[in-house]
Amino acid sequence: AETWEDVPLAPPDSIFKLTAAYKADTFPQKINLGVGAYRDDDNKPWVLPVIKKATQILLNDPDLDHEYLPITGLPEFTAAAGKLILGSDSPAIAEERAVSVQTISGTGANHLGALFLSKFYHWDGPKQIYLSDPTWANHHAIFKNVGIEPLNYPYYDPKTIALDYDHFIGTLQSAAPRSVFLFHACAHNPTGVDPTPDQWKAIADVVIEKNHYVFFDCAYQGFASGDLNKDAWAVRYFVQKNIPLLVCQSFAKNAGLYGERVGALHVVPPNKDAAARVKSQLSVLQRSEISNPPSHGARLVSLILTGTDLFEEWNRDIKTMSGRIISMRTELYRILTEELHTPGTWDHIINQIGMFSYTGINPDQAKALIDKAHVYLLSSGRISMAGLNSKNIRYFAENLDKAVR
Ligand code: PMP
Repeated sequence: AETWEDVPLAPPDSIFKLTAAYKADTFPQKINLGVGAYRDDDNKPWVLPVIKKATQILLNDPDLDHEYLPITGLPEFTAAAGKLILGSDSPAIAEERAVSVQTISGTGANHLGALFLSKFYHWDGPKQIYLSDPTWANHHAIFKNVGIEPLNYPYYDPKTIALDYDHFIGTLQSAAPRSVFLFHACAHNPTGVDPTPDQWKAIADVVIEKNHYVFFDCAYQGFASGDLNKDAWAVRYFVQKNIPLLVCQSFAKNAGLYGERVGALHVVPPNKDAAARVKSQLSVLQRSEISNPPSHGARLVSLILTGTDLFEEWNRDIKTMSGRIISMRTELYRILTEELHTPGTWDHIINQIGMFSYTGINPDQAKALIDKAHVYLLSSGRISMAGLNSKNIRYFAENLDKAVR
């Protein structure tokens, strides 16, 4: 018998499939709203000016070599990345109990965090994690790969196109004590719907009462509001409340370093002693997974995070990206409500945050947009705001209007 005859053919990834269909389309006004990467007003990928500067600094460094990094990554990078997400005045950093390990971007941080929990979390029952319904599709696969069963908690209410707060809190309350919950730190993917600070506080209260463990995924710090501190608020609040947690961090979006795979996993144990033990085990896991992480992107981010001028410039670049996305939300809302008088309510377009928006349209309407208007989006109605620009937004709004009438 043939060696691989039992291997079933897997379906292509839905987002990459959508991009392929977009590329093959020859219609001049086609729009790709599937891709989760920033585009400028000319629909081009944007290399951040601060990244160009940092790259030049690296090129001019005569001492730069291509040796292996330590197993847990570039120390300057992990230390600065920890301060960025936890805050430089974080009690966890002051008490030397934050463990930071460099990972293969946010996906690698999720994987390493999941693997670590699978092996070392003190599971009272079956290995399970509560994921928001819906969530980034990869979360399901990442946890299944390490033997943790994904469960859903209610998150998004299609009727209100907003947070299903009551059912979310209800599930936190009814889950077994010490359950593991994954929260998106900001700019929830795919819905664009985040809890308000008051809702986060109430969520934290239940987490404390039930002794749950929090797995934060932070892929969009700064990219959501334009303010790095504001987007880290929930994580910092939970750390301040002494909630046991870990944070997955990605520099793909906020530094435009998609292909460089720069990220970190930060685990916050209760004391320095536990931190040393956690770090030792993360090193062991990392060793067999990737041996040591890649250096180039980590060096770039490290320069940006530790240089005063570069850090300020990075903040301006972040504002350029988040500002453009926010202005697309405002403009789309304005055209739909004031010019076209499109049926339905569209407040969610401006209330949601970050790159993605759940438009609230159904799969048939999404299909009509693809087939009739050459506008590519997911069947869930999720669009990437980064795919809109001053030249195509009218065309999109008019066709969205037609699709829902
Ligand atoms: N988590 C979420 C919620 C995301 O949206 C993404 C990016 N699509 C990631 C993690 C990880 O992305 P990356 O591996 O490119 O950092």
